[in-house]
Amino acid sequence: MDDAAIAKKWEPYRHPQPKDSPPELVIAPAIPTDERVWVPLEPNVDFRPLLLSASAGYWTNLLRVRKSGVLSRHRHPQPVHGFVLKGEWRYLEHDWIAREGGYVYEAPGETHTLVVDAHVPEMITFFQVNGAMIYVDPDGKNTGYDDVFTRIDKCRAHYAAIGLGADYVDRFIR
Ligand code: FE
Repeated sequence: MDDAAIAKKWEPYRHPQPKDSPPELVIAPAIPTDERVWVPLEPNVDFRPLLLSASAGYWTNLLRVRKSGVLSRHRHPQPVHGFVLKGEWRYLEHDWIAREGGYVYEAPGETHTLVVDAHVPEMITFFQVNGAMIYVDPDGKNTGYDDVFTRIDKCRAHYAAIGLGADYVDRFIR
């Protein structure tokens, strides 16, 4: 490749982005240094919002579970993608363990219970959750749900209570 061809490759796109395309979102560091950014979900379980896609009905977040934490049994109507950043976790319903550096696909229709065992001080996993998490009892009876809107509400309530301000969540919403 000659110099002109290389120079051409480095030329940026010259036109505006589509006017209806939402602004991009860059969060650094994704693992926050400010503990207040973590939103409590249940004992020993917190999430850190990254993208709260109100327009497309999904969210991406970091899930943090500490020592002997359990994320309530839930069913997924749509797929979930996960990437383990730290520690390890497993589902009570499966015999594999998700370890640091691992990728996990959760299929639509799955019902499972995420646990972090006592020997793991902390796990952090990136998840993209589409649609909803439907919380269920061991027989599959619905006990509640989360979707991007309930997650936004939880963020708003937490950030108001902790002094960051309810509108702190707005930066994550598209
Ligand atoms: Fe799940």
